[in-house]
Amino acid sequence: MTEAPAAIAPALIARGLVKAYGGRPAVIDADLHLRPGQITCLLGPSGCGKSTLLRLVAGLETPDAGEIEAGGRLLSGPGGVVAPEVRGIGLVFQDYALFPHMTALQNVAFGLRDLPRVERRARAQAMLDQVRLGARGGAWPHTLSGGEQQRVALARALARRPDILLLDEPFSGLDAHLKGEVRLSLTEALRAAGATVLVVTHDAREALLMADHLVLMHGGRIIQSGVPRACYLDPASPDAARLLGEVNLIEAVVAGGVARTAFGDVAAQGLADGPAVVMVRPEGVRLGPGGASAQVAQVRFGGGYHEVQLEARGQRAQMHLAADPPGPGDTVTVRIDPDLARAFPRAPATL
Ligand code: ADP
Repeated sequence: MTEAPAAIAPALIARGLVKAYGGRPAVIDADLHLRPGQITCLLGPSGCGKSTLLRLVAGLETPDAGEIEAGGRLLSGPGGVVAPEVRGIGLVFQDYALFPHMTALQNVAFGLRDLPRVERRARAQAMLDQVRLGARGGAWPHTLSGGEQQRVALARALARRPDILLLDEPFSGLDAHLKGEVRLSLTEALRAAGATVLVVTHDAREALLMADHLVLMHGGRIIQSGVPRACYLDPASPDAARLLGEVNLIEAVVAGGVARTAFGDVAAQGLADGPAVVMVRPEGVRLGPGGASAQVAQVRFGGGYHEVQLEARGQRAQMHLAADPPGPGDTVTVRIDPDLARAFPRAPATL
């Protein structure tokens, strides 16, 4: 038997974290591993406990139970709690919180007061260079765009060389047209710095595009973690599937390891015979001969694709077509791509 390669020790491990406010749980039994030099994205809907988990890691909140360990040091646990400022963890908040009366360079140098003046300036300048704002050191924050301010905030946090960097909804303050560009330059800067990063976001696209490792949260619990592709293609539950983008949840009946739906059949090995639900992404519903017959209810132009609403035997499903969509009222033949579909036992509470 070949031995598995030794796993790289996580930069931070949280085990069994619990936090409640006034008896209402915000984080329930959460385990989290941050891998060194990787970007981990914590994705979940608003109110699911993401910020609370981030604040527990930062040390801004004390857990009711569980522990957090980083670099062999216990940061939170039964023995006590290490104060936020000595955790070696940097934080960038949603609003960047730049000092308005300081230039970009002074903002970055602010956290380096314990260094000699010349070195402080040199390191601050190097950090601004890294976020590609080297020429804007003398600029006041209000003269910078949202994206530039965000990169100054990032440079300020990175300048202190934290072991771990936490970013809370880093793009929420930016216009839609800026987001992509800023996300690219920020990801580049984080990779260049070799930073270990936890990004909190409610934006699935953002999380999929940025993350080396994805952690999905729902109702205070971590419901799945893994590489983005695996989470997207092989969700642990309908809740996990929905978090990562549009998904069809179609009623099915399992018989002999096959889930039959109005739009086609899907393998369902291991599922008991009886009612089930099939999850399939819109791009996993395909036109093709020999499949199930469906009616086109609606067609909408979505930019790079058309959104086509289908109906068959009282069930609805959505598909995406790049070109030549059918028209409303047309009858089409469809099938479900087995690589983009999963069958789950029917659990009405989660639908
Ligand atoms: P998210 O970041 O996913 O939007 P939060 O962690 O901010 O979620 O909140 C999770 C739950 O905990 C919410 O129900 C929120 O109202 C509650 N909560 C968060 N912080 C506090 C607090 N300081 N006091 C009371 N309730 C809080």
